[in-house]
Amino acid sequence: MAKYVYDFTEGNRNLKDLLGGKGANLAEMTNLGLPVPPGFTITTDACRHYLAAGAVPDGLEQEVAEHLDALEKQMGRRLGQAHDPLLVSVRSGAKFSMPGMMETVLNIGLNDESVHGLAKQAGGNDRFAWDSYRRLIQMFGKTVLGIDGDLFEHALDALKGRRQDTDLDAGELQGLVETFKGIVREQTGKDFPTDPREQMRLAVMAVFDSWNAPRAILYRRQERIPADLGTAVNIVAMVFGNVGNDSGTGVAFTRDPGTGRQGIYGDYLQNAQGEDVVAGIRNTIPLEELERIDKRSYDELLGIMETLENHYRDLCDIEFTIERGKLWMLQTRVGKRTAAAAFCIATQLVDQGLITIDEAVTRVNGDQLAQLMFPRFDGGAAKKKIAKGMNASPGAAVGKAVFSSERAVELAGQGEDVILVRRETNPDDLAGMIAARGILTSRGGKTSHAAVVARGMGKTCVCGAEELEVSTRERRFTAPGGVVVSEGDLISIDGTSGEIYLGEVPVVDSAVVEYFEGAEPEDELVKAVDRIMRHADSARRLGVRANADTPEDAARSRRFGGQGIGLCRTEHMFLGERRQLVEDLVLASTGEERQAALDALEPLQKADFTEIFRAMDGNPVTIRLIDPPLHEFLPDIVDLSVKVATDGATDKDRELLAAVKRLHEQNPMLGLRGVRLGLVIPGLFAMQVRAIAQAAKEVPGARPEIMIPLVAAVQELESVREEAARILAEAGVEALIGTMIEVPRAALTAAQIAEAAEFFSFGTNDLTQMTWGFSRDDVEAAFFSRYLEQGIFGVSPFETLDREGVGRLIRIAVEEGRSTRPDLHLGICGEHGGDPDSVHFCHDVGLDYVSCSPFRIPVARLEAGRAALADSDSDTR
Ligand code: PEP
Ligand code: MG
Repeated sequence: MAKYVYDFTEGNRNLKDLLGGKGANLAEMTNLGLPVPPGFTITTDACRHYLAAGAVPDGLEQEVAEHLDALEKQMGRRLGQAHDPLLVSVRSGAKFSMPGMMETVLNIGLNDESVHGLAKQAGGNDRFAWDSYRRLIQMFGKTVLGIDGDLFEHALDALKGRRQDTDLDAGELQGLVETFKGIVREQTGKDFPTDPREQMRLAVMAVFDSWNAPRAILYRRQERIPADLGTAVNIVAMVFGNVGNDSGTGVAFTRDPGTGRQGIYGDYLQNAQGEDVVAGIRNTIPLEELERIDKRSYDELLGIMETLENHYRDLCDIEFTIERGKLWMLQTRVGKRTAAAAFCIATQLVDQGLITIDEAVTRVNGDQLAQLMFPRFDGGAAKKKIAKGMNASPGAAVGKAVFSSERAVELAGQGEDVILVRRETNPDDLAGMIAARGILTSRGGKTSHAAVVARGMGKTCVCGAEELEVSTRERRFTAPGGVVVSEGDLISIDGTSGEIYLGEVPVVDSAVVEYFEGAEPEDELVKAVDRIMRHADSARRLGVRANADTPEDAARSRRFGGQGIGLCRTEHMFLGERRQLVEDLVLASTGEERQAALDALEPLQKADFTEIFRAMDGNPVTIRLIDPPLHEFLPDIVDLSVKVATDGATDKDRELLAAVKRLHEQNPMLGLRGVRLGLVIPGLFAMQVRAIAQAAKEVPGARPEIMIPLVAAVQELESVREEAARILAEAGVEALIGTMIEVPRAALTAAQIAEAAEFFSFGTNDLTQMTWGFSRDDVEAAFFSRYLEQGIFGVSPFETLDREGVGRLIRIAVEEGRSTRPDLHLGICGEHGGDPDSVHFCHDVGLDYVSCSPFRIPVARLEAGRAALADSDSDTR
């Protein structure tokens, strides 16, 4: 019989797939002997079954009943029993944390009778009992019964007036319970369910359903979390932080998730339940102040934090509750952190002897490194600081202030940069947070929704800027000194310092980029990056080259650690003033005229290559012969037609128009381009090869490699190769001659093609286009958003290599190519060469190098190191 329910004593942290992150870690803490309230977890299997079949699996209800029985025995109380009730929380918990995205219901088991029993348990504290009851109806009403949460909020606000929620007395709260019950009746046509077991059953199903709530779907897509995992549900005996001032609830980190620095980081809220902290309902106090309020619990908490860090060997974040002086752990997990903190923490843990440097490299990733290469504000620029908030997620963001998620989406859709300004955010703001450059809130701490979600997205965020009076209704905020910022006004926010500026502040390169450019590592972060990059470089097997076709890019690629050029596109060298020469080439009507045009181009090409060889200083340079259709270099057909139809057109204009019409193709990407051009236009490739050979002769140590694009059949390659080899031999220059593999037929006939190629470079842009039949210039804008929504793929195959389809072709080509020519050199030069996941694939499939844009080189180096270390890790396991 399938087992769908695990007691906390039965699980452990390795069971995240089955128990979700929260359940697995609650089990781990239970087994470490930490004070966790007892409970049990319903597995993700049960959720998946429920979502697929529309009903819970057979046997689940029985199993839950047995575990509840055991829990009741252990607690000595029965769920919702009138005179001495056990209450439980029903909490979601997926494998990957999705903060605030799914549902949680606290205080299950309360009704008109058990509310009195609860008051008695709490020493006659009626206020606490009614407060807990109103919270249940409010949470249950919103999440389980689907009632608009604002109805409850407005009723609470109307009662509170200008007071805090803690100022409400028992009688008022009892009245509020009646009001809330009325809202439930009015909205659903039924009474609030009073049977505790029924409450629990409905709450479990609501948690399952919340997996497919729109905001959860959006979050998963953003974070690339698979859509089919489902969530587990944790049923935990309630402990209460809202019994009085000797109680409270808080969140803590074992180090600063913003910078990685060790110390005490967290927020605490007296006399409150968990959701109050995250929702930013009242402002929290810094965790250090708990020492003054309840030293015993504080010391115990610090001890537990140390235990957890040593046990998990990483930064942990923690949720806890203190109930009348007794500390309870409600959650822990390896905590989310900023990119900067990730690098610093990884090297700190090495220094503390908790992890090895190998492991440190696997604790960071290329996306984080890319984030650190974002610009920051220019320290020397004049700025008008208007306020300061908390530095919740680093970076520098400039944009127009907007005050609603909808407006953020709308303006961003029109190409505007926006900063989303809210008092506090909630999960419904997600779309606006994604659309915005940065997020600014006036309420809530570093653990508020805005902060957690922004950090997860790598988006700049300043939160809790209490000096700001935000009015979302009037779409403006007021800063100290009477500064008013209205919708559309430009502001700049610094997520690293928390500062907020009026107007646009200029941004400059990051310190990490300066380090890659050659600056000595000085601050802790750059030193950490340096250490990790050195180790990744020593571990990686893949070489990393650049896609570069100017001397500047070539030089930058060397500074960034590139070991050569994997793709020098020559077509960019035919633009600008040189278009004229291409026009001459196209218009040539005799062999002499054509040769004259080529002869004019040759010295220019030679100069291009000479500069690049110099910049690359003896590193290999793969030069790809001209690839795009020639009409791309000619004037636009409509412009020309207009010109010819009006007075003043020259004979050349008329000739050009005729040529453009002659060359026009319905599907230019599948037309006369690549090797086909070389075969159809005599002398074109020969001119390029001669220019390469002459340039190589001028630069001592130059290592040219000649690459033929768009080859589909070995016969195409053979004839081009023969001519190129002859020209090289005549010049006395040695160069490898190879081909791109970017047409599926080339991959499928790689054994033959390798007869004529000394290297292959996978052009995965075209290979993806032709494997899927997706026009690479059109489809992403046209309909990929629909494909992503429908889950046809989780990420664009132009961004991350499609392992199943395109990857399969690459595997075939690697195997077959090497079977013909064992020393065949293999690389990739499509955009995927700088994409973290695709780099791992390239490592796995046995390529020799990846080639990517200069700015992605550090990312590729790091990921290549991680891929190699992941291999050695599995070897030793
Ligand atoms: C490719 O197709 O992957 C490639 C690198 O060539 P281009 O992008 O220039 O077509
Ligand atoms: Mg291509």
